[in-house]
Amino acid sequence: MFKIALVPGDGIGPDIIKQAVKVLKAIERPGEIEFEFTEVLAGGTAIDKTGHPLPKESLDICLASDAVLLGAVGGPKWDNLPGDIRPEQALLGLRKGLGVFANLRPAVLFPQLKKASPLKEEIIGEGIDVLVVRELIGGIYFGQRGRDGDRAYDTECYSVPEVERIARVAFDTARKRRRKVTSVDKANILESSRLWRETITHVAEQYPDVELNHMYVDNCAMQLIRNPHQFDVIVTSNMFGDILSDEASMLVGSLGMLPSASLGDTKRGFYEPIHGSAPDIAGQDKANPLATILSVAMMLRYSFDLTHQADMIERAVAQVLEDGYRTADIMENDMKLVGTDKMGDLVVEYLNRI
Ligand code: ATP
Ligand code: MG
Repeated sequence: MFKIALVPGDGIGPDIIKQAVKVLKAIERPGEIEFEFTEVLAGGTAIDKTGHPLPKESLDICLASDAVLLGAVGGPKWDNLPGDIRPEQALLGLRKGLGVFANLRPAVLFPQLKKASPLKEEIIGEGIDVLVVRELIGGIYFGQRGRDGDRAYDTECYSVPEVERIARVAFDTARKRRRKVTSVDKANILESSRLWRETITHVAEQYPDVELNHMYVDNCAMQLIRNPHQFDVIVTSNMFGDILSDEASMLVGSLGMLPSASLGDTKRGFYEPIHGSAPDIAGQDKANPLATILSVAMMLRYSFDLTHQADMIERAVAQVLEDGYRTADIMENDMKLVGTDKMGDLVVEYLNRI
């Protein structure tokens, strides 16, 4: 029995979480695979009801779960609240509270959606599948910063244990994929990058079955566009990861298709689509639920070790696209336009057929 905390949140959050639950229910096998769902309040809706973006009870339920699935938080309704209360604090509070230091963002281009990519067709080939593993709670984002007269500074500091733990996530993840890790740094310039490189190399000794190479960040930014197929897992620091994961998502084009996972020292993970709450289409049966459904696949793979079931979900999504079904955000000529609910039903239908 796996306990899942559901955080529908705001905007299209509830619309897409509903579809994710349908898919999880279709995976259940009594006595073998069972899920227990608990819905929790967070974000703007939580501010409306309790005055806090992340009530303590919500975090407690998430901490007692095996995985957390979030829809989205935020929206214009809460943009100008008095004081410092903002829906986005729920996200930071959850990440911090759950101790997730590794952010996994796959950039997967389904061959059926080639047109959404700015890359040439001959570069895309059979599709793209790169995973960026970004260190999330260290580095320059959390280093000392300040002003000194007319100067300003920010410092990047990484310790060996911080790099070791993100390296382990990257190598473990690569073992569930194509067994290749590219560590990205700026070791020709930065001392923190030299420590990063040494440490990654050291950890790699425990993973002789995974291939490791090192790349400077400027070269990586170029190689992602020149030949994305050379990459399987990219592991990098907080700031380089921020930039490279956005670049990688643009390669595949569609916001509504991209999932993410955040992991810590335990199997418990935090899963969410990378898009926001899209308040312009909330509650209108227009949102694309596939990013959330693909986040469910990541949950099965990384928190529950249900690799086969994760593959099945990804195959069902590919098949739905192959048969021409599209939500409005990924609609093209001659395709079949469907709403949020129907898209969820279709994935379930294809899952039952596999
Ligand atoms: P946030 O600050 O919460 O990240 P944002 O301003 O970056 O929000 P999103 O909420 O991600 O923006 O939405 C950007 C645009 O993309 C919106 O017009 C929205 O309608 C569209 N969009 C985002 N997610 C989806 C989705 N799942 N399905 C369809 N359209 C989407
Ligand atoms: Mg945004």
